[in-house]
Amino acid sequence: MVAVDVVEPPSTSPEEVLIDSSAARPDAISWDDYFMSVAFLTAMRSKDPSTQVGAVIVNNLKRIIGVGYNGFPTGCSDDVLPWAKTSPKGELETKYPYVVHAELNAVMNKNSESCIGCRLYSTLFPCNECAKVIIQAGIREVIYASDKQKSKDSARASRKLFKLAGVEMRHFVSKDSSLNLVLRYPEDEPGPHPMEQTPVKIRKFMTGAYSGCDSCANCGSPPTSQTSSSSQRFAGWESFAWSSAAVATAMVSLAVVRSWQRRGLSA
Ligand SMILES: [Zn+2]
Repeated sequence: MVAVDVVEPPSTSPEEVLIDSSAARPDAISWDDYFMSVAFLTAMRSKDPSTQVGAVIVNNLKRIIGVGYNGFPTGCSDDVLPWAKTSPKGELETKYPYVVHAELNAVMNKNSESCIGCRLYSTLFPCNECAKVIIQAGIREVIYASDKQKSKDSARASRKLFKLAGVEMRHFVSKDSSLNLVLRYPEDEPGPHPMEQTPVKIRKFMTGAYSGCDSCANCGSPPTSQTSSSSQRFAGWESFAWSSAAVATAMVSLAVVRSWQRRGLSA
């Protein structure tokens, strides 16, 4: 049994409690952040050691209809083809003749009849070969996170093609440099239940339903005694110990946008 010190929030008015309990979450990510995050997440599937690019195609209903990352064609083993950028043996021993770019893969992978009128989110501004595919697929807007290759002829050709075809280009810059994706709900966290750690302080101003360890299927611990009315069902608890455990063990950092740019998505 662990005595739990229930801490009243020092400056939370009843009105604020009401807002906390019923209002929509104010920190939900934007659509742009969401789709670009999916693009960066998709890029993490790439086997390319130097360049990881992801692309997402979104229709007018804000539904993703295709995703892709740079990789070799289906059935062409990563163990056979080279990922090198240069080779003394010539271009055939580099990745360039073989790799399929993220944007082309996204178009080819689409689960919709067509991409006409869609947007494409890409972690990197498209090369001229992908620009041709994007235009021919009927995509009307390209949103890109990195433009680090803008001085290359390939990017300059892409811009020329997009302008001629009337495809809008938008440089995406998120206000956040990273997005942390938690891959577990607190209730599913393995190991000792945070309520059994001491000291445990609980803020109870949020709503929800919490009934102690008897509702925790994973830890199997008996109900925790509590020193105040928090022994009743209350919700939206959070503990300092729980926060540290969750942050330490249940978070996967998705390097997005600027952090990737800082690392350099070198081509
Ligand atoms: Zn390309």
